[in-house]
Amino acid sequence: MSVTGRADAQHHMINNALTVDVEDYFQVSAFRDQISPDDWPQFESRVVANTHRVLDIFDAAGVSATFFVLGWIAERHPQLVREIAQRGHEIGCHGYSHQLIYGQSQQVFREETRRAKSLLESQAQTPVHGYRAASFSITDASRWALDVLADCGFEYDSSMYPVRHDLYGTAVQAAGPHQIVAPGGKTLIEFPMTVRSIMGVTLPVSGGGYFRLYPYRLSAYLLGLVNDAAEPFVFYMHPWEVDPDQPRIRTSLKSRLRHYINLDTCADKLRALVHDFRFTSMAQVLAENPVEPLLPAQRASALRSPR
Ligand SMILES: [Zn+2]
Repeated sequence: MSVTGRADAQHHMINNALTVDVEDYFQVSAFRDQISPDDWPQFESRVVANTHRVLDIFDAAGVSATFFVLGWIAERHPQLVREIAQRGHEIGCHGYSHQLIYGQSQQVFREETRRAKSLLESQAQTPVHGYRAASFSITDASRWALDVLADCGFEYDSSMYPVRHDLYGTAVQAAGPHQIVAPGGKTLIEFPMTVRSIMGVTLPVSGGGYFRLYPYRLSAYLLGLVNDAAEPFVFYMHPWEVDPDQPRIRTSLKSRLRHYINLDTCADKLRALVHDFRFTSMAQVLAENPVEPLLPAQRASALRSPR
């Protein structure tokens, strides 16, 4: 396989969190100016076949993962959530409508998050503990979303990406799993997306478009550095990223680059990754890396200054 190349396969013994944000190719934030949610039903749905492709890659490697499923998808494909759960994976919540949280009202976010969580729980027949926001849109402008997540009964969030990006980015208190305080005072566990600093430059290494953009050896090198430091990393991807034949959307050059770059090699890179590193669900990684509860003084200071 041309994209592989680690001779020292699996020299890291740390379990990392393997995560999939289950949505269709026409729902991504890169296309939000061209395609409104009202238009979604007109597009050919490819999410079930693409998720099967991802499940088969994980099955072949014998790894389990966390699938953060969009409520809108679960509503239309109820069998998909059941199948993911039955194949031994954790079901998490990717919200309902894939809107950027900082563009939503608190009331709408609260209603649709509740709706998505209870739908996923009834389909999976198991409690849903984890949340991943559309486009990592829990930022300084939407910290209030953490209150909603805690009120809805989520135990952990994995929506913060400590990088600069036009759609997302926020500072985090720690690179690995850690306790955070929502503005209303409740606590949650946050497992932020993984970054790695090289010569003063912070590189996002958690997956998605960056994984497709970087040569596989670079991704493997950077993720290996995280495990070398005895830290688990988060890897994320989307089912549409292993579908080079998806219909092309007419959009800006930036959005085309972001969405379509290296779709044809992504499945091979993914096979290499799940071979070269140890992975499991996010819930399992959190169980293996228990967080220190914040001391009262730390809680008070986190409430005064969220970062
Ligand atoms: Zn998404």
